[in-house]
Amino acid sequence: MKRNISTALVAAGAALVLYDAPVSAREAEIVGKVTAIESKVIAWRRDIHQHPELSNRETRTAALVAKHLESLGLEVRRGVAKTGVIGVLKGARPGRVLALRADMDALPVEEQTGLPFASRVKAEYLGKMVSIMHACGHDAHTAILMGAAEVLAGMRQQIAGTILFVFQPAEEGAPSGEQGGAALIMAEGALNDPRPDAIFALHVEPGVPGRIDVRAGPMLASETALHIELQGRQTHAARPWEGTDLINLTADVIKGVTTLSARQVNVFEFPNVVTIASVQAGLRGNILPGTATLLGTIRTFDAARLQSLQQLIRTNIDGLAKSYGASAKVEFEEAALVTGNDPQILQTILPALRVAAGPAGVNTEALLRGAAEDFSYFEKEIPGIYYIIGSTRGYTTKQAAPSNHSPLFDIDEAVLAVGVKAQVLSSLRYLHTAAP
Ligand SMILES: [Zn+2]
Ligand SMILES: [Zn+2]
Repeated sequence: MKRNISTALVAAGAALVLYDAPVSAREAEIVGKVTAIESKVIAWRRDIHQHPELSNRETRTAALVAKHLESLGLEVRRGVAKTGVIGVLKGARPGRVLALRADMDALPVEEQTGLPFASRVKAEYLGKMVSIMHACGHDAHTAILMGAAEVLAGMRQQIAGTILFVFQPAEEGAPSGEQGGAALIMAEGALNDPRPDAIFALHVEPGVPGRIDVRAGPMLASETALHIELQGRQTHAARPWEGTDLINLTADVIKGVTTLSARQVNVFEFPNVVTIASVQAGLRGNILPGTATLLGTIRTFDAARLQSLQQLIRTNIDGLAKSYGASAKVEFEEAALVTGNDPQILQTILPALRVAAGPAGVNTEALLRGAAEDFSYFEKEIPGIYYIIGSTRGYTTKQAAPSNHSPLFDIDEAVLAVGVKAQVLSSLRYLHTAAP
C-alpha cells in the first residue's frame, strides 16, 4: 500500500518520478482514488471467492456485478452470452471506444487453501456433484474490474470516449453441448454497438506480486484439440498376425506426431507443442482391440504453422495406419486462437502499466506461454492488450508457487489494487492519447 507516496505526489502537483516511472499529478491522484476503494475490492474478491460458479452458471456473480454497475449510474446490459454483464460508461466528451474484460467463471476443483473465505460450494458438473473453486483467479479479475468501473465512473466528466466493462462467462469453456465465452459474445453481436476500437484484459498468475508481464505480438498460444480414431480388426493377443496390432500402431502414432512437431518444422522460427494426453485402447491383456482413441492438443503462435502441423499430422498418421492395415480418422477442433498485444497500443499504455506495477516493475519481454485464452476471440476482431500480473504471496520460485487450477492457488491481495490501477491508468492513456 503506497498511501503516503500518492498523497505526497498529489500535493506536489507536478510531474514526479515514482519508482522510475514518471507519474503525472493526475495519475498520482488516480492512484489515490484506487487506494481509497482498495478495501472494497478486497471484500468483493473474498465474497466472489467464497461463492464460485461454473462456466455459464455465473448468475450470483453476474447479479453482484450488475447491481454494482447500476449503482455507479452506468447503462447495464444483462444476459450477455447467457450470464454475462456489460456496463457502458459514456465520457463527457466524444472519443474512442474501449472495452475492458474480466472473466467470472470458476473450476471443478476442491479448494485446499485453508483460507477463512475458502469455497465449500458444490455444483453439478458432467452429471456429478463436485467441489467448485476459483482456482484460476477470475474472482480477482471480476473484483478488479468492478473497482476500475467505480474509479472511472467517478471521472466521467474528464473522460473522452466510451468504456465498456465486459464481465464474460465461461472463459474456461462452456459445458459440453453449450456455446459460451468470448466467441458467443462476438457471435451475438454484443460488442457491435458501440464497437470497441480496442479491448484490454489481465490475468493473475504465479509470480512476483505486482510485476506485470507483457510482450508485443503473440504471447499466449493458440489451442487446437486433436482427436484420433484408429480402426482395425480385433484379434487374439497371441495371434496378432490374424488381425491389426492397434496397440503398436497407437505407440507409433504418439511417437510420430510428437516427433514431427520438433523435427519437421522450424522451431527456431516459432515454438510449438503437440501432446497426446489421453489414450483409450484395449480392455485386457489377451485381446488386441479393434479401435483406439487418442486425444491431444496442439499449441502454436502462428496460423500458418498450425496449418502445416495439421497437414503433417494427417500425413503421418495416414501413412502409419496404412502400414498396419488399419484406418485412421483425424479431427482438429479449434479451441482458442493466439492471444497477444497490439504493438502500437502497448507502446501507448506502457507508461501507465509501469506506474501501476510500481517497484515490482513491468517485464516487456515476457516468455511465450503455452496456455491459451478465450480472449483471443475478441482479439480476432478487435485490437487487444493482454497482460499478466504476478500474484503469489511470499513468492520465492515458480516451482514453489501453486499454479493456476491448483487446489492451493491463491493470490496476494495487494495485487488487486495493482490491477485496478493498471486498468484505470491504461484506459485513460489509451483514450486520451492521439492515434499515431
Ligand atoms: Zn484457467
Ligand atoms: Zn484463467
